[in-house]
Amino acid sequence: MGIYVHIPFCRSKCFYCGFYSVASLQRKEEYVRALCREVELRREYLPSRQADTLYFGGGTPSYLEVNELERIVREVESCWTFSPDSERTLEANPEDVTVEKLRFWKEVGFNRLSIGVQSFDDKVLKQINRTHSARRAEEAVCRAADCGFENIGIDLIIGLPGSTSSDVEHHLKILENLPVSHVSVYLLSIDSNTVFERLAARGKFVPLDDDCLAEQYLLVSDYLKHIGFEHYEISNFAKERRYSKHNTSYWMQRPYLGLGAAAHSYDGDSRQWNVAHLKKYMDALQENRLYFEREELSDRDKYNECIMTRLRTMWGLDIKRLEREYAVYWNRVKHKLPVWRESGLLEIENNIIRLSPRGWLVSDGIFSELFI
Ligand code: SF4
Repeated sequence: MGIYVHIPFCRSKCFYCGFYSVASLQRKEEYVRALCREVELRREYLPSRQADTLYFGGGTPSYLEVNELERIVREVESCWTFSPDSERTLEANPEDVTVEKLRFWKEVGFNRLSIGVQSFDDKVLKQINRTHSARRAEEAVCRAADCGFENIGIDLIIGLPGSTSSDVEHHLKILENLPVSHVSVYLLSIDSNTVFERLAARGKFVPLDDDCLAEQYLLVSDYLKHIGFEHYEISNFAKERRYSKHNTSYWMQRPYLGLGAAAHSYDGDSRQWNVAHLKKYMDALQENRLYFEREELSDRDKYNECIMTRLRTMWGLDIKRLEREYAVYWNRVKHKLPVWRESGLLEIENNIIRLSPRGWLVSDGIFSELFI
């Protein structure tokens, strides 16, 4: 079981980002108080008081002052016990990765850092409105390793307008020499409520065409595999089996609790999501109320989620499970598999269906064909 904590503050808004966050620190203290209150009120949500993963995401959790971060962590620890091999991740932006903060993050119990590098090219960083330089990002990774972090992941974005495969290769060569054991690679998409969406609407942002996007994605997959990473999920690669345990539990449909504005939770039968609005979130907690929406999952929803989450990963989808739990739906769509198999988009081995990297590229289409 995992616990996610959302810290919705950023220095400025990246042009591609559709996550809920605000580019202001004005209500940070108040938010930390509200979050601690929510921890208290949610202590019964998960079926057990033992948790395996803790993930601070955002927004920019590394932007918090050390005492604020510690306060939230201690509050969480007062409600849940973490197993000795638990994974505790902090998302960090390169400009926050100082020796002092790194030491503190270790002290407070984080053992995994996910550093938002996005690109090793200053021009690109500017184009997407990141506030750090490429050099700063490299230094952040090396500094974290020097301070004893052994599990360091970075995020990269590919598919920016005007980018080429040789640009991507250049980034991968830099990455190869860094002490990184996990890489998340995102294909740039135009999310709603982003600057890129507004630019696209005015014709000032023309996305890369699908063929170039596919070429970059397959290049990343081949290159990273060649240097020892496993491509274990559509967008994720890990060395030495350092998969993100927290995110893997989402894909395995295990229960998790999300704390903070806009955070999502899942208990096996329903999903719920907190209001994506700082003031409404905090006002409710001031009155000891939780402000969220909830959706009960039908069998059909569970089947669709099973398809979508399992096929994202290299562990694949178990046909026996589909026949056991969802035969009524599965029998309606299973005849579609052979075409994809023949065209190399998926393989079936020992009753497990797995998409290939080329299959992952067109996975939205495959999922929608298998959905009921
Ligand atoms: S990408 Fe990260 S740092 Fe940038 S706006 Fe989104 S949450 Fe904030």
